Amino acid sequence: MLLQEYVSLKEFNTFGVKAQARYYVRIHDEQLLQHSLRSLSPKLLPRLILGGGSNVLFINNFEGIVMHMVIGKIAIVRENKDHVWVKAGAGVNWHTLVQYCVQHGYAGIENLALIPGTVGAAPVQNIGAYGVELSDVFESLEALEIDSGKIHTFDAVACAFGYRNSLFKNQLRGQYIILNVTLKLGKKPTFRIDYGAVAGTLEAMGIQALSIKAISDAVIHLRQRKLPNPTHLGNAGSFFKNPVVTQAQFKKLQAQLPHIPGYQQSEGQVKVPAAWLIEQCGWKGKRHDKVGVYDQHALVLVNYGGSTGQEIYQFSQVIQRSVKDRFGITLIPEVQIIG
Ligand SMILES: Cc1cc2nc3c(=O)[nH]c(=O)nc-3n(C[C@H](O)[C@H](O)[C@H](O)COP(=O)(O)OP(=O)(O)OC[C@H]3O[C@@H](n4cnc5c(N)ncnc54)[C@H](O)[C@@H]3O)c2cc1C
Repeated sequence: MLLQEYVSLKEFNTFGVKAQARYYVRIHDEQLLQHSLRSLSPKLLPRLILGGGSNVLFINNFEGIVMHMVIGKIAIVRENKDHVWVKAGAGVNWHTLVQYCVQHGYAGIENLALIPGTVGAAPVQNIGAYGVELSDVFESLEALEIDSGKIHTFDAVACAFGYRNSLFKNQLRGQYIILNVTLKLGKKPTFRIDYGAVAGTLEAMGIQALSIKAISDAVIHLRQRKLPNPTHLGNAGSFFKNPVVTQAQFKKLQAQLPHIPGYQQSEGQVKVPAAWLIEQCGWKGKRHDKVGVYDQHALVLVNYGGSTGQEIYQFSQVIQRSVKDRFGITLIPEVQIIG
């Protein structure tokens, strides 16, 4: 095991903020992970499991052990005439998995193309985009319980998936290390083009024959247009979750703001786009020194270079307060604040 000390995390977080790990270890395989946990446990230091660093904001140095997951292999574990079960290691890049499935004609995750990060982090917040969530195709995952060193299998019910949420973000936060994820994908695709601008983009691209490749291409095109590339402009995608309010709260808001958008959810709740709320407060495209709100997407906070995690966090709190003052809605960060 190669345990390094005082390692810079700047290259390992898509916000590109400076932070240092007191200890750092790259986990290439399960054995190394078991060994690391056994030999590091007496230190009783906080641990952070890190994938692509695309959903975290470091607001301080991390005074513990960063375990960087790079375990990576894709395999078909089962197949019948309608479905294929694809298992991928936690460290596999998510988009690499999407491309693999698109190339082989395995349908179900093409709408999730180009989401940064790793397979192991995908269940943590039940990644989603363009009308599809990981939970739609999720079969199971294997995760190592840090305290006992035992490996447990979780199915979708056990993961308690919700909107950008799962058990691993709540009750089990920091207790398990996800080792691999198995997805159940279709050999006969059901296309999802009803959400957002997917259908319009397919049309604009002149695509007439629908295929999972065409959908993946359209999603890639849309994302490249709408979202900043973290290699050029530090960011972690949507900073806040879209708030979900009761029908009664929504009616009250609608009485004051007739144009407020809302999407009906189950159990009579309504999801309100956080980007719209932030834009109404005048934040879209606003810049405070080295931090700002992206001019193409009000939900994305950006590091224009040299900003600290603290500065980005404080800026996010100012936005949070202004939305609360104007609409009475509390925005909850989607990004995990570390430190
Ligand atoms: C430009 C951009 C666009 C984005 N668009 C989307 C989008 O459309 N939809 C969406 O849902 N998200 C989106 N995101 C957010 C992000 O890509 C996802 O949340 C992604 O799944 C994070 O993966 P990661 O490997 O980078 O996780 P990290 O940021 O490294 O970690 C995130 C959390 O997961 C935990 N974790 C990581 N790996 C493991 C593991 N193996 N076991 C246990 N816990 C683990 C970490 O401890 C941390 O708490 C976007 C981000 C960016 C930068």
